[in-house]
Amino acid sequence: MAHENCIFCKIVAGEIPSAKVYEDDEVYAFLDISQVTKGHTLVIPKTHVKNIYETPSEVASSLFARVPRIANAIKDTYQPAGMNLLQNNEAAADQSVFHIHIHLIPRYGEGDGFS
Ligand code: 5GP
Ligand code: ZN
Repeated sequence: MAHENCIFCKIVAGEIPSAKVYEDDEVYAFLDISQVTKGHTLVIPKTHVKNIYETPSEVASSLFARVPRIANAIKDTYQPAGMNLLQNNEAAADQSVFHIHIHLIPRYGEGDGFS
């Protein structure tokens, strides 16, 4: 169910444009609007869930199950030296969009801007 005023639900619905990296029935992945490194991607469930505390295990299963495939697609496209996965929950932990998402952050070695 789409959540009113959720920007990521609007992205899933196509109401806000995004640069798609991957999509299937349950999951959507797109480039972060303010990429910390080249290819910084967000992976989200199409269903609205606030964060890890409220994520049903079946939603977590499909969300996390897609990550290796998406990580490999990013690896093939951008050829990073490594990649960080990051997932923030609640404002105190830097969550700013309250629709669960996994950051895939390609790393290019020293000086790539992310630490
Ligand atoms: P958080 O801080 O909640 O873990 O991450 C939210 C991320 O969403 C941020 O990195 C931010 O740049 C990204 N973001 C916020 N609004 C938009 C948007 O409208 N489009 C895209 N592509 N990314 C967004
Ligand atoms: Zn949402």
